[in-house]
Amino acid sequence: MIPMVDLRAQFEALRPELEPALAAALEDGRFVFGPQVQAFEEEVAAYLGVAHTIGCGSGTDALFLALRAAGIGPGDEVITTPFTFIATAEAICQVGARPVFVDIDPRTFNLDPEQVAAAIGPATRAILPVHLFGQPAPMDAILALAANHDLVVIEDCAQSFGARHDGHHTGSQGLAGCFSFFPSKNLGCFGDGGLISCQDDDLARRLRSLRNHGSETRYHHDELGHNSRLDELQAVVLRVKLRHIEHFNEQRRRVARRYRECLADCPVQCPVEERVGEHVYHQFTLLCDQRERLAEALTRAGIASAIYYPIPLHRQKALHEHCRHGALPVSEDVARHCLSLPMYPELRDEQVDYITGVIRAFHDNG
Ligand SMILES: *Cc1c(COP(=O)(O)O)cnc(C)c1O
Repeated sequence: MIPMVDLRAQFEALRPELEPALAAALEDGRFVFGPQVQAFEEEVAAYLGVAHTIGCGSGTDALFLALRAAGIGPGDEVITTPFTFIATAEAICQVGARPVFVDIDPRTFNLDPEQVAAAIGPATRAILPVHLFGQPAPMDAILALAANHDLVVIEDCAQSFGARHDGHHTGSQGLAGCFSFFPSKNLGCFGDGGLISCQDDDLARRLRSLRNHGSETRYHHDELGHNSRLDELQAVVLRVKLRHIEHFNEQRRRVARRYRECLADCPVQCPVEERVGEHVYHQFTLLCDQRERLAEALTRAGIASAIYYPIPLHRQKALHEHCRHGALPVSEDVARHCLSLPMYPELRDEQVDYITGVIRAFHDNG
């Protein structure tokens, strides 16, 4: 079986680096707020080109904490995409604000800035773009809209670690960038983990306090916060993987190029790269007409595939009463036709050839 992602292959390759580093952290014994987290935060800040990064418990927490620290709450609206994982909108609701869903660009599956502009109203406080599947959202247009309307921009970078937009890393241009280190993300740890990036000193201080029960000095609490920390063992794993992330993302682009070449004459739409080289391919997602039948053909051939995402968020029962939206025909159409193929750095060319051979045969035999 060719899986969607092969975490075992990556572990085997990194085992010689991981095992001694994990053993050293176990011997050290400072499991929360130890030296590994601090070193990781500094290394990621340098890598992203930001002043501060703050580790936390998950990508969902990163979004929630960033929204809360930005002062967004009841009565506020946050414009975002309905074509994403639930966590994006969940965090908006958790701070008491309302998600306002606007439609996406059918080529990139990212927020359409014209739709964002049309949805800005008196209660709008923030724009929350998702760099979906690893492709940077159109940040120039989004930042310009935010500046003109005095809105904050909080970036959901859960799928885009290492992606650059016009030379800027995702997560370095908005007020805050929110990252997830869930195991299957392109920078993943061995459990849950997250991180917030930002440039502002005061915001960083507030986030450090909020993730630790609202405390800057031990046992002094100026406000109620949360328990949301990145732990030492996860930081050890992430420090090792960070050293390889450029290579991993380059390998993902190699796999994407080969998929694209091999599917060139096939009646499926491959991912459209807004600008070549910026996409880090957290997912390689096709649009196709006979999705269910194609997925079955792949399964029969021992190839995994997945639908990210089958139901746009405005159609989710949990969000029904909490969101505002107009017609969202592109999101609905994409949700009906998207199919993601196996994608991980260790996927070999021969495997891509086998997968695309099955897809081509499926269409040849009609
Ligand atoms: C994974 C993901 C999240 C949430 O991250 P967790 O670490 O699982 O909480 C948020 N947004 C998007 C787009 C994601 O893919």
